[in-house]
Amino acid sequence: MSKTIQAIRGMNDCLPSETNVWQMVESVLRRVVSNYGFAEIRMPIVESTALFKRSIGEVTDIVEKEMYTFDDRNGDSLTLRPEGTASCVRAGNQHGLLYNQEQRLWYMGPMFRHERPQKGRYRQFHQFGVEAFGIATPDIDAEVISLTARLWRELGISDYVTLEINSLGSNEERATYRDALVAFLTERVDQLDEDSKRRMHTNPLRVLDSKNPQVQEALEGAPKLADYFGDESREHFAQVCQRLAAAGINYVINDKLVRGLDYYNRTVFEWVTDSLGAQGTVCAGGRYDGLVEQLGGKTTPAFGFALGIERLVLMLTSLDKAQNVRSQVDAYVIMLGDDISISGNALAEKWRDLVPDIRIQCHCGGGNMKKQMKRADKSGAQIALILGEDEIANQEVTVKYLRGQDEQQSVAFDQIPHLLTTLI
Ligand code: ATP
Ligand code: MG
Repeated sequence: MSKTIQAIRGMNDCLPSETNVWQMVESVLRRVVSNYGFAEIRMPIVESTALFKRSIGEVTDIVEKEMYTFDDRNGDSLTLRPEGTASCVRAGNQHGLLYNQEQRLWYMGPMFRHERPQKGRYRQFHQFGVEAFGIATPDIDAEVISLTARLWRELGISDYVTLEINSLGSNEERATYRDALVAFLTERVDQLDEDSKRRMHTNPLRVLDSKNPQVQEALEGAPKLADYFGDESREHFAQVCQRLAAAGINYVINDKLVRGLDYYNRTVFEWVTDSLGAQGTVCAGGRYDGLVEQLGGKTTPAFGFALGIERLVLMLTSLDKAQNVRSQVDAYVIMLGDDISISGNALAEKWRDLVPDIRIQCHCGGGNMKKQMKRADKSGAQIALILGEDEIANQEVTVKYLRGQDEQQSVAFDQIPHLLTTLI
C-alpha cells in the first residue's frame, strides 16, 4: 500500500463535524454586517508581493518572516495574501470604487502566514473583515466598533471579550513621538532584549507591545504618544470614546496598543479574551487614512477591522456556546421495504417542495428497522419519519422523536409539512 499524503502543517481540514459551527458563525457575521449596510467584496488569494510590502510595511513581522512568497512561471514574485485590507484597497483603486465615494465593504476567506502553528495560530486561517472608505469623522469609527460589539452579542460571547482602544495620532505626531521614544530607549538599551533592540531602529513603537516583562519594566516612565497629539487627534479620539460610551460599549484605553501593521493612524482597537490562552486577540483594526494614497489612489480616509474565524470557533466550542447549532439533518426517513422506499422518496420530495429550508435525509440501502434507526440516530436528526406497509395504507407516518422524551405518534401525511416547520 502506498504512503498516505498529509495536509501541510498549520493548514487544517474543516471536517463535517465542525462545519456546522463554522456555517453558524459565518451566517451571523453576514447577517450583522448587512444590518449595517455593508456589501461583500471578493478578492483573489494571490497578489503581487509588492502590494503587501508597500502596505503592511517592510519591517513588520508579517513581511519580514511570515509571507508565503514564490516566483510564478513567468518569474513574477507573488504572495498568498496574509491579510485582506491591502487587497481590498488595491481592488478599490483598480476599479475606481474609492475616489470621492463612500464604500462600506466586507470580505471573508483564507489568509496565509508562515507562523509557528499552535492553538489559535495556523498557517492557513480565515478572516472576516470590514472596511469603510471615504469617511474621516469619528462617527464611522464608533459605528464599526458597535458592529463588532453586536457580533459578540449575537454569538453569545460578550461576557468573554474586552475592547481595548488607543489612538496613534497622525503620521507627523507619531514621527515626533518616535524620536522621543528612541531617545528614551537609547538610554536604556542594555535593558532591552534582542528583538526590541532591533525594533528600536526599525519600528520603535512596536517595542511598546513587547511581551517581555523586562522590556516592559524598562518602559516605565517612557514618553506617552498622547502627549504629542494636536487638537484634531485629541478631539477625534475623545469623540470615539464618547460615542462608544453613549452606545453602552465598555472599553479600556490601552496606550501600549500599537498594532503590528504599519498603515494605521488615529483610532486602533482590539477585542481580547482570556479564554483562548496565549492567542488572546479575536478581532483587531483601526483607521488607515494614508493607505489608499500609498497604494496609488487619491487620498481617502478609511477604517476597518479583521477577525479570526478559527479563534471565534474555538471560543464558542470551549465556552459550550456551540451546543444549539442546528445539525445537518432535521428529519430522517425510515422506509421498510423496496416498494415503500419508492413512495417514501416521492413523499420526501414533496415535503422538500413545501418546506424549502428543511433538511431531510432518506435512508438508502435497505435493511431492517434496527439498522435504519441506528443510521437515523447517527444522522443527528431530531425525528425519524417511519414508513411501512400500514403507514402507506393509512396515509400516515409514525413519528419517533430521537432527542428528548416525546412519545412516538402517528401523523397524517398532510400534517407532516407543518410538523417539519417546527424543526427549523
Ligand atoms: P496576533 O497578535 O495574534 O499575531 P495579529 O496582530 O498578527 O494577531 P491581525 O493581522 O491583526 O493579527 O489579524 C486579525 C485577526 O486575525 C487576529 O486578531 C486573529 O484573530 C486572526 N489571526 C491572525 N493571525 C492568525 C493566525 N496565524 N492564525 C489564526 N488566526 C490569526
Ligand atoms: Mg501575528
